[in-house]
Amino acid sequence: VPTPTPADIHIPADLLPADGRFGCGPSKVRPEALAGLAATGASYLGTSHRQPGVKSVVRRLREGLGELFHLPDGYEVVLGNGGTTVFWDIASLQLIERRSQHLVFGEFSGKFADAVRAVPALADPVIVASETGTHPEPQPGTDVDAYALTHNETSTGVMMTIGRPDDRALVVVDATSGAGGLRVDATQFDAYYFAPQKCFASDGGLWVALLSPDALDRAIRLRGSRWVPPSLDLVAALDNSRNDQTGNTPALATLFFFADQLVWMLERGGLEWAAGRSDRSADILYGWAEASAYAHPFVAKPDERSRVVGTIDLDSSVDALAVAQALRANGIVDTESYRKLGRNQLRIGMFPAVEPADVEALTHCIDYVAAELAA
Ligand SMILES: *Cc1c(COP(=O)(O)O)cnc(C)c1O
Repeated sequence: VPTPTPADIHIPADLLPADGRFGCGPSKVRPEALAGLAATGASYLGTSHRQPGVKSVVRRLREGLGELFHLPDGYEVVLGNGGTTVFWDIASLQLIERRSQHLVFGEFSGKFADAVRAVPALADPVIVASETGTHPEPQPGTDVDAYALTHNETSTGVMMTIGRPDDRALVVVDATSGAGGLRVDATQFDAYYFAPQKCFASDGGLWVALLSPDALDRAIRLRGSRWVPPSLDLVAALDNSRNDQTGNTPALATLFFFADQLVWMLERGGLEWAAGRSDRSADILYGWAEASAYAHPFVAKPDERSRVVGTIDLDSSVDALAVAQALRANGIVDTESYRKLGRNQLRIGMFPAVEPADVEALTHCIDYVAAELAA
C-alpha cells in the first residue's frame, strides 16, 4: 500500500474542530460578527464615514479600547489607514527623535529596525538581537530616545513582558498580534500599536495606536521640526481620531468587526477574560506537545512561549508541511510555519476568538494525520 499523499487523508468528522481557522492574520472572524455585519443591510456598508452611522462605530472603538486597556488619563486612542507597516513609518518620523534601540527577535521586529535604519533624519538604531525562539532584554543606558519592543513576535511565537527599561526614553511597542490577547500595563508604554486582523478578529488595513502624553508631545514637537508626508502625519491622525474619523476613507467592514470583537470582549470581562481564553488554548496546545512523542514546543522557556501564537516543532520523521497540507484538505487552514523561519514546524493562532475546544480538537487531528502519514 503506498503512503497516502496529504490530500488523500480524510480526518473523521467527529475529530474536526467546529471552526478550522488557526491562522495568524488575517485570523478567524467570529461567524456571529459576520452575521451582524450582514444584518446591517443597507444602513452601514456603503454609507459616508463622515456621518453618525460610521462615526459612532469609531467612537465605540476609541472608548472601548480605553476601557479594555485601562488607559490612564491623558492617553489617546489614534487610528488611521495602512496597517502596522504604515505605522512603522509614522513612528520612524514622529516618535523617534534621534536614535532608537530595537529588540530584534524575528521577522517583524527586524522589519521595523530596517525601516528606521533607512530614515535619513535618524542615527543608526541600536540593535539588540537574540537567537530565534528567544527574546533579548532591553539594554538601558545606550543613549537612545525610544525603545522599540514587540509584545509578541508572530514569526517565532515568542512573547515578552512590556516594561520600561528607563524613565527617559519612549517605549514604543509593536503589539500587532499581542494586543487584546496578552495582558499589559498601560503605564509601561508610550505607544502600543497594532492592527485588528489578529486578536481583534477583524480584517486588515487599519492601524491603531494607544499613545501616552509624552508620545503625543514628541509627535507634535517633531512635526514642527521635520517634514512629514501628510498621509503619515500622526498629529493630523490625532485630530481626526478625536473627531471619530480617519484622514481618508477607511474600510467600514474592518471597523465593524473590530468594534464587534471589542464589545464581545468587554461584555465578558475585558482583557483579563480575553487573555484567559488564549491561556486555556495555549495550555492545551503546549501540554499536548510536551506529552507528544514527535511534537515539541519550539520556544524553550515556558514563560516566553506565546499564549496567542503557538509554534510547534515536529521530529524530522513527520513532515510538518505535509501535515499542514492534509489539515488544509480537511478544512483546517493556515497552520503552516512562518516561511522564512525554515523549520519543520506548525504555527497555530490562538487568538481570543478561537475556541479552546477547537485547539483541543486540532491536536487530535494533528495526531491522526501524523499517524496516517506514517502508515
Ligand atoms: C502581522 C504583524 C505585522 C504586520 O501587520 P500589517 O498590518 O500587515 O502591516 C507587524 N508586526 C507584527 C508583530 C505582526 O504580527
